[in-house]
Amino acid sequence: MKNLPKSPLSLWLDTYGTYSPEPSLHGEVNVDIAIIGGGFTGVATAHELKRAEPSLRVAVLEAETVGFGASGRNGSFAMTVVGLGFGVTAMLRGKQFLSDAHKYMMKAVDHLDELIQRENLDCDRIRPGFLRTATTDGYIKRIQHDVELMNSLGFDDISWLNAEEVRERVNSDRYLGAMWEPRMVLINPAKLVRAEKELALNLGVKFFENTPVMEITSKPVFQIKTSGGRVSADKIVFATNAYSHLFPGLKRKQIPAFTYMIATDQLTERQLEPLGWDGFEGLEDARNLIHYYRLTPDKRLVMGGGPVGLTWANSLDADSNEAAWKHLENHIHFLFPSLSDAKITHRWGGPFSVTVNLTPSLGYLGDKRAVYSLGCIGHGVSMSHLNACVLKDLLLERQSDLPECPFVNHKVIPWPPEPLRMATIGAIRSYLQIEDWFHERKLPQAGQ
Ligand SMILES: Cc1cc2nc3c(=O)[nH]c(=O)nc-3n(C[C@H](O)[C@H](O)[C@H](O)COP(=O)(O)OP(=O)(O)OC[C@H]3O[C@@H](n4cnc5c(N)ncnc54)[C@H](O)[C@@H]3O)c2cc1C
Repeated sequence: MKNLPKSPLSLWLDTYGTYSPEPSLHGEVNVDIAIIGGGFTGVATAHELKRAEPSLRVAVLEAETVGFGASGRNGSFAMTVVGLGFGVTAMLRGKQFLSDAHKYMMKAVDHLDELIQRENLDCDRIRPGFLRTATTDGYIKRIQHDVELMNSLGFDDISWLNAEEVRERVNSDRYLGAMWEPRMVLINPAKLVRAEKELALNLGVKFFENTPVMEITSKPVFQIKTSGGRVSADKIVFATNAYSHLFPGLKRKQIPAFTYMIATDQLTERQLEPLGWDGFEGLEDARNLIHYYRLTPDKRLVMGGGPVGLTWANSLDADSNEAAWKHLENHIHFLFPSLSDAKITHRWGGPFSVTVNLTPSLGYLGDKRAVYSLGCIGHGVSMSHLNACVLKDLLLERQSDLPECPFVNHKVIPWPPEPLRMATIGAIRSYLQIEDWFHERKLPQAGQ
């Protein structure tokens, strides 16, 4: 495996303060379960395993440092949304799947919130709820359709707010209405994943950072070759999400796509006053290539989304994208003219994991000694934590007391090899972009 490309630091990683990684692996260790990847999935699976079976020897092997991947760079929204949203999920997978997936995601958000509070994880948690705003008539129709769909499935905490109601919460002349969903939790992702690492360390999990896994053989037990050592393990977890294609057994299950984010400096009262954003709600819009944004506790505006990056042959070298960052800056000005002089202090990006049918997948890989999790798209913050509980049950071959996980042990449709792979994902992105353009064609340029 080549080294993972270095990325511009996210706001969360840059402002984390001093971080002391665990030493990298030198020499040989034997464990019961080796976990590859130190993001939310890997770290949460580690602490869930140790809590369930304290005598297990568990090690996490992370190529860089804990939180290097999407878990240290994301938009910080722990939400109930799966795939590209309610309507699209129902269209692709049917209403029953949407209903099962939504119940699972409600549990995922609650589970993460309970974990944070039970373990006192220092991660700036707030639970302000979620608005999906409409900025065109077409988006009003789309959101109202989603609200009706979810209400018809019995989810009656999701509701429509008219323009006046949404502007009472967050004031932009662009808002014509919004979907309201109260469950969402916002966190600081770098603080959360590293607080979970501390939790796992205290339970006896071993961490090896700056320890890329290079090669794995599986007989008679797993032999995992890292850059400086070797691990023998009875069982193995691939918690590598958007990097999973680097492993031959997972090569065609997912591809990486890239989303970009920016953060402003701390905003002044003068800049913030017109927004009236006292509740700190998390917001997205109704586009296919959504914008997602929030205010941090220290009053920076963090915005991500818009253009999505794709690379030839799954290259991971696309964490930077000047055009996407400029687009996001313009979109801030479009929504909130009072922020037109706000200084942008951070620009970053990272890969998210996409399956052919845009839904997550986890389960056994080959026999029951190996499990994997991938395909959370931009919605893995809450999901990865409940997925970790499912992975724990699969590894311990236990009857689960969790709600049925609709993503587990399904056959994953393989991505084709190049050039067909790029043609397929390129066509999906073009379709999504054209639909967004159609909805926004009458808006001023900055909105697109
Ligand atoms: C910019 C951005 C914004 C996002 N916003 C949101 C959001 O607001 N809400 C939401 O729900 N989701 C969001 N997501 C998605 C979410 O962050 C992910 O779904 C989630 O963090 C995935 O966690 P993970 O542990 O599965 O993967 P990751 O956090 O990516 O962890 C995988 C780890 O594996 C390591 N690794 C890879 N190869 C090897 C190897 N060979 N050996 C050892 N280690 C290896 C990597 O270094 C990495 O640390 C966003 C993603 C991005 C990129």
